[in-house]
Parts: sequence; structure tokens; C-alpha cells
Amino acid sequence: MQTRFVVVLGSLMSGLGKGVVTSSILKLLDLYNYRALPLKFDGYLNMDAGTMNPYQHGEVFVLNDRSEVDMDFGMYERFLGRDLTGDLSITGGKIFSKVISKERTGDYLGEDVQIIPHLTGEIVRWIENVSEEKKIDVLVIEVGGTVGDLENGYFIEAMRQLALKRKVVFVNLTYLPTNSGEQKTKPTQLAFRTLMQLGIRPDFLVCRCSGRIKEKTKEKLALFTNLTQERIINDSNTKSIYELPLQLLAQNFDKMLLKDLGLEERGMDNAALEKFRGNVDKILNPAKTINIAAVGKYTGTDDTYVSVKEAVVHAAAIFGARPNIAWLDSSGLDDLDDEGIAKVLSGFDGIIVPGGFGKRGVEGKIKAIKYARLGKVPYLGLCLGLQLMVIEFARNVCGLDGANSTEFDGNAKHNVVDLMPEQRGLKEKGGSMRLGSYACVIRNAGTMAFKAYQSSNIEERHRHRYELNNEYRKVLQDNGLVISGVSPDDSLVEIVEWGEGFGIGTQAHPEFKSRPGSPSPLFKSFVSACMSFQERKDLSSAAAWRTPAFEEPASLT
Ligand code: GLN
Repeated sequence: MQTRFVVVLGSLMSGLGKGVVTSSILKLLDLYNYRALPLKFDGYLNMDAGTMNPYQHGEVFVLNDRSEVDMDFGMYERFLGRDLTGDLSITGGKIFSKVISKERTGDYLGEDVQIIPHLTGEIVRWIENVSEEKKIDVLVIEVGGTVGDLENGYFIEAMRQLALKRKVVFVNLTYLPTNSGEQKTKPTQLAFRTLMQLGIRPDFLVCRCSGRIKEKTKEKLALFTNLTQERIINDSNTKSIYELPLQLLAQNFDKMLLKDLGLEERGMDNAALEKFRGNVDKILNPAKTINIAAVGKYTGTDDTYVSVKEAVVHAAAIFGARPNIAWLDSSGLDDLDDEGIAKVLSGFDGIIVPGGFGKRGVEGKIKAIKYARLGKVPYLGLCLGLQLMVIEFARNVCGLDGANSTEFDGNAKHNVVDLMPEQRGLKEKGGSMRLGSYACVIRNAGTMAFKAYQSSNIEERHRHRYELNNEYRKVLQDNGLVISGVSPDDSLVEIVEWGEGFGIGTQAHPEFKSRPGSPSPLFKSFVSACMSFQERKDLSSAAAWRTPAFEEPASLT
């Protein structure tokens, strides 16, 4: 079957949830057993997301094949439950460099190389090649940025050209602000006109608004856009992003889309739909709450650790719990003493230290880890979280004063975490870390790692340059640190754990592979430990509260 295309464009402003709309469309097509995959265009001139600041751009997501991509890929994978590849990500950097290197090798000899037709032609070719290679029924293309931006103008033009020869359905996401109780359509009318000027007439308007779109608003929008009212789709705020596919189903969006794409409306996979509904229901209706502190560096935005957050949500849902995650900026803990740290962290049922780079806030994280180890508070360390767990253990248990990572102190007395040998001398910053999926062997069936994974051979995704220094393996182990996972050739430590309490650190980022209904094994074990910790805490505080009332009166003894 020839590939069909859906193009998702956003108007007016960023942050409306184009990624969720794209992922929901993918999910619907998948429920009809069509092979649907995403493709994302990002207009920046970086080759990939790897060299961007997570604070500004959000999490850098890593795929099995080493690609460092936009965080929307995490959402696509979570909705679709499928591993994706880097050729589904086109950036301004990638496409320009392709055209320029073709020009140098003489591919366009004699021509003046232009945005149209050369750059746009290259985009269309890329999209057609990917669709053919992967035998895709429907490719859902998300155009990053907002309609009217300079950065994505040539890509939108390429989409217009694609529609000249292939079946393309355009979905335009827009926003309806409310003023004095009235939903305002003027911004959307103007946005619609901008798209029409670019030669594109959307087939659906998906409207973000608080509450539902009023009938009057729909009538007005239909009049201005030539769309029938049923094609003006409600995308109201939901408690969970996973509700949107269900919202779209309720509006018959799936049926209209299939018709537009010229695809037969074969029966939906009802078992898969019910399973999805069940997972959403578990997320929406938890019986309990657990409180988790995530001690990180980039805590000012929701986007930086989105996969960590999602992985906790998936794991908690399995146990009927809602996670309450407090994102604590570790620099605020740097100067606190043990008592101060205890004050900040005492209410939590578990502590996570996620991945990170650079020195700022590292000491605060190490203090939080010490608090968790001594207080037997469940701890999960992700990448940097493993490295700092090792540093804390070296300093405070092995007595190696001045233990550190060479990343933070080049002259550390004990560089228990050091640059990996293959990273030495590397000048290039882009795409040069230890990236992508790597195998790990779990040695001992008695370890927390084995209990979590139930297997001795696992694979997780990585993104790091530093690693536990093998020269210190022995002293760490002699003092009780368990090295439970190593690379198959035993050259790299992959997982460490404390001998007592629940504390585990992984050099990988297991959060990247967590999905609703099938959470990451390590997150599942961690959340289960948090729930037991909470129960024990509740019992002991109940006991402490009850003690005086149950004391035998002196006169009776
Ligand atoms: N900065 C550390 C390293 O490069 C950890 C990286 C991470 O947490 N992803 O090894």
C-alpha cells in the first residue's frame, strides 16, 4: 500500500500540545492496525537535540540507534509502544547540511541551488524514502514551531508540494482564548488565513480551549474556514495526556480521518482499545498517593525530566497510586547541614536523582543521597544519580576523602568516577557520548537489579561520558557496595546497589523505555519500595501516637 500522510501544524503559539495530538493520531491509527509512524521536523540548525540546553529545549530523548532527538519522540514511543529510529527526525541542520554536501559533490552541477526546489525537494525525497523503507501505511508528520515562523516556512512549503502528488491530510492545532466569558475566534481566523496564503487548507481544526468549544463558536469557525462543524475538534484540558485519543474517538475524528486518507474503516482492535482505556483509568483513578523528591538541576520547567516523570506515573499506576513529585533544585541543598537536609526531605517516600551534567548542585544531590542511605529511604539514581551514589559511598563509607568525578574536579584525590577511555581526546561534542542501547549482564539472582528485571541479560539506553573508575571497584565492594550489573565484557559498571534498604543506581536511562501499562522494571521496583516505606512510616507514626493511650495505668500494675 502506498503511504498516506497526516501533517500536524500549530498556529498562534507554542506549547499547545502538538506532540500529544500527533501521538494521539498515531495511537488511533495503530488501534485500527495500520502501520503508522511519526516524523518530526524541528527548524533549528543544530544537527540534533544533543547539543541543546535541556532547560530551554526540554529533555534530550535517546533512541536505541544512538540518535539524540526531540522530547516529542518520547511521547510518540509511549503512545505507540514501539521503538523509533533517528531517520524519523529531520532538523534544519540535517537538511541544510545534506543539501550543501550534495552541492559540494556536484550533484546539482550547473544549477543555482535554492530553497525551492532543491531544499524542499530534498525534504520530500527524505519523507518518501523513509516511508518506503519502513513500509509505512500512514506517516504522521509533526511540524515543529508555529505557522508563520521563518524557521519552518520551507518545510511547510515542502508539505504543500508533497500534497500535490500524494494523499495528505492537514490538521491544524489552534487556541481559543476566552475573554469576558466568550470564546474568541479571531486569532484562529487570522491563523487560518496565514495557512491559506501558504497554499494549505486544513482538513481539521483541533482547538485547545478551557472547557468545551461552544456550539456558537463552532458555527462561527465553520463559517470562516469552510469546514463542516464536525471537523472542528475539541481538545480541552485533560487530567492526563493519555485521555486525548479517547476524546478524539468520542468525536468520530478517527472515522473522518480514515475516510480522508482513503483507508477502509476496518474493525478497531477492541481488546487493544480496552487495554488502553484500562491503563488510562488506572492513571486517572488512583487509590493512594506517594510522595517522591526528585533532586535535580533543571527543575524550573516541566519538560526537562519528562520521561522520568512519566516513568514514575506508569509505575505508580500499576500499584494504584498517584505520584506527587516534588522537583527540588539541588543547589538549594548545597549548603545545608544534615539537619537541614532532613527537614527538606523527611516527608518523602522516595528520592530520585536524575541525569545531569556539570558541577552546579552536585554537592546538594550527594547530601540527599546520604540522607536516603542512612534513613533507608528508597533511592533511585539515574546515570549521574549512579555516579553520585558511588561518590557518596566512597566518601562516607569507604573513608575516601575528596572522592569525586573528574567531571567536577579534575584534580580529585580519588577520582572514583572518571572519563571513559574511549572518550579521552574526543574534540567533537555532537553525538560523541556513549549513546543508545547497550547490553548489561546482571550477575547475581539475589540482587535488587535481578528482582526488578527478572533476567540476567538486559538492555537500556545510555547517554554519558563518565563511568565508575574500575580501580575503585574493589574498595567499594569490600565496604559493601554491590556491583550488580556490568557490560558483557565486564569493562563498565552498569548498576550498583546498597547492601541494605532500597538503593539502586543505573548508568543507563531506563525512563526512556517506560510505557503506560508496561513500566520500566527499575521504576516499578522503586515505586513498590516507596509504597512499603510509606506503610512502615505510617505504622510507626501511628504506633508512636497510640503509645500513651495504651499505657497501662500505674495503679493496675
Ligand atoms: N555527566 C555525566 C556523564 O556524562 C552523567 C550524564 C547523565 O546523567 N546523562 O557521564
